[in-house]
Amino acid sequence: MNRHPYQVVITDCDHGSIEEEQEEFGHMGTELILAQVREEEDLIRVCKEADGLINQYAWLTRRVFDNLPKCKVVVRYGVGVDSIDLRAATDLGIIIANVPDYCIDEVSDHTIAMILSLIRKTVFFNQKVKSDQWDFRLGIPIHRTRGKTLGLIGCGKIGLEVAKKMAIFGVRVIAFDPYIEKALEGIELTTLDNVLKESDLISIHCPLNESTRHLIGGQEFKKMERKPLLINTSRGPIVNEKALIQALEEGHISGAGLDVLETEPPDSRNHMLKMENVLLSPHVGFYSEESISELKRRAAKNVSDVLRGRWPGSVVNREVMGKTRATISID
Ligand code: NAD
Repeated sequence: MNRHPYQVVITDCDHGSIEEEQEEFGHMGTELILAQVREEEDLIRVCKEADGLINQYAWLTRRVFDNLPKCKVVVRYGVGVDSIDLRAATDLGIIIANVPDYCIDEVSDHTIAMILSLIRKTVFFNQKVKSDQWDFRLGIPIHRTRGKTLGLIGCGKIGLEVAKKMAIFGVRVIAFDPYIEKALEGIELTTLDNVLKESDLISIHCPLNESTRHLIGGQEFKKMERKPLLINTSRGPIVNEKALIQALEEGHISGAGLDVLETEPPDSRNHMLKMENVLLSPHVGFYSEESISELKRRAAKNVSDVLRGRWPGSVVNREVMGKTRATISID
């Protein structure tokens, strides 16, 4: 017999401590279990009494959900919920929530760090000076940032923040986003072809889905008239990497800043590892001590909201409304 009013299980996570989660549940007297399991059988065994789950990578299948009679809510640490069978959860009245906006500052800062590093060639010069080459001419040509055109592909939370922060550098911002209807301050909405044609800097901020996979390929690189820098902090497969390498080799673009790749980590034979005009980072855009702390706190709050009869901050399966296992009293 559980003496706690509720039990919440963290199925798995790759952060060391669960202090923030414990703080969130502490005052509710909730029993919080860190399970670190990913196999179906283990998930069923460990979570069968749980009222709520927080999950990171473990696959939550229909079979798992069928065996969790008390589960009212599952919250994913982060944005993507592709590891969760949403239809099964919805059929059973389980609310699925996520934390979509814990790292907007981090990813937008990382994007701008890449833009400025490539324009001012700071990483390039750092390597030269440390290999005993003190000569600014090695980096010529270097261009001024002010007056350049920054083209965004996708202008949601991160794209907008990049636009706002880059305004101070005196750039003109244009954007392609087929789902935005109303005008955005300081941003000219235009077609993808115009972004490719007019931009000196192109930064990708759309999600990866079937319509954006390889959105930027051979044809698109050929339309880039101003030999732009290409920045991708979104998802690797949005850019066809073969075509990107060819565009770099043939000079259709002047350089690239990539936090994400088609294959992560890259194959050791990937040509871009040797290119001086390509800046790479290991899919770190989301990370700061503060963003992870916020992610943990908000994931736990989403669960505790449901257990207290409230809708969580961001429900993924809105179709569950009207048939939730949890009694939701405040809409
Ligand atoms: P968001 O949902 O707020 O914005 C995405 C925008 O892309 C939306 O405005 C949408 O209308 C637009 N879009 C959709 N399809 C499009 C298309 N075919 N062409 C152009 N635009 C299109 O998402 P966000 O919070 O701004 O995040 C953007 C992306 O950043 C995420 O999808 C994720 O892949 C990536 N991300 C990366 C990291 C990292 O660590 N590098 C961290 C968080 C998010």
